[in-house]
Amino acid sequence: MGQCDMEEVFIAIGSNLGDRLKNIVRAERGLLEFLEITGRSHVYETLPQYVVNQPPFLNLAVRGMPKMEPRPLLEALKRLEISLGRQPSARNGPRLIDLDILCFGERQIDTDELTLPHPRIEERYFVLRPLLDLNPNMRHPTIGKTIRQLVDELPIDADKGVKVISDH
Ligand code: ADP
Ligand code: MG
Repeated sequence: MGQCDMEEVFIAIGSNLGDRLKNIVRAERGLLEFLEITGRSHVYETLPQYVVNQPPFLNLAVRGMPKMEPRPLLEALKRLEISLGRQPSARNGPRLIDLDILCFGERQIDTDELTLPHPRIEERYFVLRPLLDLNPNMRHPTIGKTIRQLVDELPIDADKGVKVISDH
């Protein structure tokens, strides 16, 4: 109870190049092939973390029931990113679209290709804020704290510059 419910999947969508809203709308449409979407967060405009000298992102997250296992899902997401026009880019650098599997039920995977739950969720307001919309009581599968707790533990200025973009 309260965890990512049985094999429910949470996916983060981000974009900071081109027509960001169009990119995330197209990504969401593409995701329908791989999961039955049951919820979506608001869309947030966030300032880049880590590599700060790049345009602001739009971020959101969706939840749903996956139609495939984690590894094929990751491969499908990578293909979708490319089909939407993503070019190779530096880690945490600018990208037209980024699709990350945040968690897949309670599964824990740690390989070069795929890490579940996604690393550093707990330090990323741009990930936690959309998750808070979807389920504040969900527990991080390995840290064991709720999304609400993780947000409360972030630095006081973690939400600085964050804007809610009206729903599309
Ligand atoms: P970022 O870490 O900034 O999202 P990329 O989108 O370029 O960077 O992803 C780099 C690699 O991270 C991908 O090629 C993918 O294999 C790997 N990866 C590991 N775990 C995950 C996950 N849970 N979701 C998405 N990609 C993942
Ligand atoms: Mg990624």
